[in-house]
Amino acid sequence: MPYVITGGCCADASCIDVCPVDCIHPTPSERGFLDADMLFIDPDSCIECGACRPECPVDAISPDHELSPGLLPYLSLARAHFSGDRTADAAAGPVAADLPSTVRPGLRVAVVGAGAAGGYAARELLKIPGVQIDVYERNLTPHGLVRFGIAPDHPQTKLVEAVFPFTTGNPNLRLHLGVEVGRHITHAELMSFHHAVIYAAGADGENRLQIPGGDLAECAGEFVAWYNGDPRVADRSFDLTHERVIVIGNGNVALDVARILTSDVDRLARTDIADQALAALGRSNVREVVVVGRRGVADAAYSYSEMLALQDRDDIEVVFDASDLARDDEQRTAIDAPSAPLLKEKVALTRRVAGPPANERARRRVVLRYLLSPTRISRLGSEVQMDFAENAMVGSDSGGLRAVATGTHQQLRAGLVLSAIGFRADAADLPVAPSGRSVLHRAGRVLTGVDGEVLPAVYVTGWLKRGPRGVVGSNKACAIETVGSLLEDYQAGTLTRDLRPSTELEALLSERQPDRLDAAGWLRVDALERRNGRSAGRPRRKLTSLAEIVEAAR
Ligand code: SF4
Repeated sequence: MPYVITGGCCADASCIDVCPVDCIHPTPSERGFLDADMLFIDPDSCIECGACRPECPVDAISPDHELSPGLLPYLSLARAHFSGDRTADAAAGPVAADLPSTVRPGLRVAVVGAGAAGGYAARELLKIPGVQIDVYERNLTPHGLVRFGIAPDHPQTKLVEAVFPFTTGNPNLRLHLGVEVGRHITHAELMSFHHAVIYAAGADGENRLQIPGGDLAECAGEFVAWYNGDPRVADRSFDLTHERVIVIGNGNVALDVARILTSDVDRLARTDIADQALAALGRSNVREVVVVGRRGVADAAYSYSEMLALQDRDDIEVVFDASDLARDDEQRTAIDAPSAPLLKEKVALTRRVAGPPANERARRRVVLRYLLSPTRISRLGSEVQMDFAENAMVGSDSGGLRAVATGTHQQLRAGLVLSAIGFRADAADLPVAPSGRSVLHRAGRVLTGVDGEVLPAVYVTGWLKRGPRGVVGSNKACAIETVGSLLEDYQAGTLTRDLRPSTELEALLSERQPDRLDAAGWLRVDALERRNGRSAGRPRRKLTSLAEIVEAAR
């Protein structure tokens, strides 16, 4: 009866530290850890001691005999993970760092961003006695994408917020919510109050479709923020008056969006989805969401867990286009595409989902399309028409596969197009890599440019550092590396300089942002949201206007 990690896994790796037989992989020192959707327990090596279970922040570990039928595939997935040749995975390890338990007294650090990246960085710094941390967050609420990104019907994943130290009452951490760097306080001012600044603000920009008419597509990330109650987009509206929505891209954001658009509203009404989104989805005429990926089934960007979550739903019918699957089969056979065991499981799962007959109970459906690239969007009255080029996967010079147009085209009409094609680093004054995906850095130390010098006392962690990849817990190992670099520099004396007193910081922030909240203010908002939710049978009812949040905090 081995223990099994299931789909809620946040890959925070707390379980790895306590396993007496090192049977949980990938570890932070193994290649692929930062890209892992989840971790796995080797069923043949697990001695069933149970030590990992209480360590998991999202309650994703169970002995196999406790797994519900819907979760049993995770045991097969674990077997598949350990069945292949893992020599390459175990070879390279970019991350694990042993942090010192003490440093010279007096270190003061600014952390910009109170999401998962900032949370893990602050947590590591707080383990060192005497380190003073100020956390600056432009939103009036902490927890970043845990609050505004994770889908409301995935409450288990949100449990991870309990590991962040923002509200633990630690006197060495001060939380400044509603304070935006560049608006309420400058980078130079941060440097005058702190020995070092860690930027952990996430990759906030969304990639746009670079095709004719691409601006007719809405950003899926904004749609996600809207249904999660982000005050910055709470007043947005999306056209849900037509029967079909097209989502471009087939990563986890795309599947989240498709699932929310097709869910039974009664089911959503038991979640913490924003009230205005719940009302709009209740009025929605959407019956079909078409999710389009440019590559084949094995190269789809969604994770196994996201697909399994979709398969399990009795209120949604999942539909595949037979011609896509036939083309995919034909091409993979033609190029003799190799498949790692995990990919084979993902393809097999997709085929299983595709197999059953129509779900009679489902009122709405998600249609998964493959091997199609959007080429144009045109307005047709109140609808839009999308043109697609069919693709074939061919071998590339690098040994991988790439999608090339076959010359055949297709068209689809819809009331709304959402593009879910990834994020980029919007890092105001920091040097961004040519890819646009991340800030230039070396082990978390920000650089002046490509192949440039280290920018003294400026660090980066999270998506800003490694680009938009990995899951919530991937930020832990990432933060450990950055904090390790910072502490090394501090001990070497390169961060030493005279700082302005903290009392001046308080005065400056009070003058420039009188509506900022501290941890106590946020706890009052949190308590009110939970109380309001309880009376409606929901985990919380989010406040979605800045004025309401400030009022509740007082
Ligand atoms: Fe490791 Fe024990 Fe968890 Fe098995 S049950 S994975 S041996 S900690």
